[in-house]
Amino acid sequence: MEINLISDTVTKPSLEMLNYMNSCNVGDDVFKEDPTVNALENKVAKMFKMEKALFFPSGTMTNQTAIKIHTNPGDQLICSKTAHVYNYEGGGVSFNSGVSCKLINKERGFFDSNDVLNSINPPDFYHSPKTSLVCVENTTNKGGGACWDINELKKIQLVCKENKLKYHLDGARIWNASVKNGIDFSFFGEIFDTISVCLSKGLGCPVGSLLLCNEKDYNEAVRIRKILGGGMRQSGYLAACGLYALENNISRLEEDHKKAKEIESVLKKLYFIKKVEKVETNIIIFEISDQYRSEKFIEILQKKGVKLIGMGDNKLRLVTHLDYSSAHHEKFLQLISDVSL
Ligand SMILES: *Cc1c(COP(=O)(O)O)cnc(C)c1O
Repeated sequence: MEINLISDTVTKPSLEMLNYMNSCNVGDDVFKEDPTVNALENKVAKMFKMEKALFFPSGTMTNQTAIKIHTNPGDQLICSKTAHVYNYEGGGVSFNSGVSCKLINKERGFFDSNDVLNSINPPDFYHSPKTSLVCVENTTNKGGGACWDINELKKIQLVCKENKLKYHLDGARIWNASVKNGIDFSFFGEIFDTISVCLSKGLGCPVGSLLLCNEKDYNEAVRIRKILGGGMRQSGYLAACGLYALENNISRLEEDHKKAKEIESVLKKLYFIKKVEKVETNIIIFEISDQYRSEKFIEILQKKGVKLIGMGDNKLRLVTHLDYSSAHHEKFLQLISDVSL
């Protein structure tokens, strides 16, 4: 029995999902003639109460498109030092949009409205880049699956309005944040100019992401998606997985969160663990004590059929997901309890 805790992207489509995929109607989506893609886009736009949604092959392309819409070359965006858009999109911010990032260095990928205010370059001081966009991530990935305080998101929205900045949410795991705190998706739709969401993380789809936005940004997004090579043809087969997942795989995220909490409490008892970061959703980040090596921990578990990866600095990250079953969970808890370094 292999146990894979590297990421919630490792899931494979279930038989039910594949059957649903097989039963859908498709067309050429570049001509907007794929009924299943259209249905998915309409459904997600309604969930977030936003005017439009556009289907993309990856979350990276969705974020990059949003950044391209909101900025001009030479501009600067504000984000956390740990942000996905800054760290894990291949430098796309500069490659695609010619934009630099003003980084805020705070715990768990958060910042507050004052940090944003302090990061805005004075608009009439033409020596500095023009600040045009704020990006936040919910849940924070490198921040350990932490959920933003809604009131802080609203305060930042005010700062954005007052300073004519656009406001983008990287909501790759917004499903987890919503389930965790019982917040309706439309709440996020009210706050942000654009939102990206991923279907291929906790929801268990093989591929897919959507950009939520208004009508005007949608027209621009269709063009940018085409330029980036993301115009797909019979992508209804992929969209069908999304429709299936939205119906069946959102509320069950609670199970992933519960398992993550249980892993947290077992880890806390182990003698070679220095610190476990507070677990809020499905991501667990922990640190091995200085006198031991995380590589050894990974190696021991690997021999027992467990896949996990280090984050550097003697830290490790585990992510629970749809294909991490109760049987996997029981076995994993036993295996880590038995580890001796
Ligand atoms: C996974 C992820 C993305 C998008 O990644 P893709 O692999 O391109 O789909 C964007 N933001 C965050 C926070 C993520 O975790």
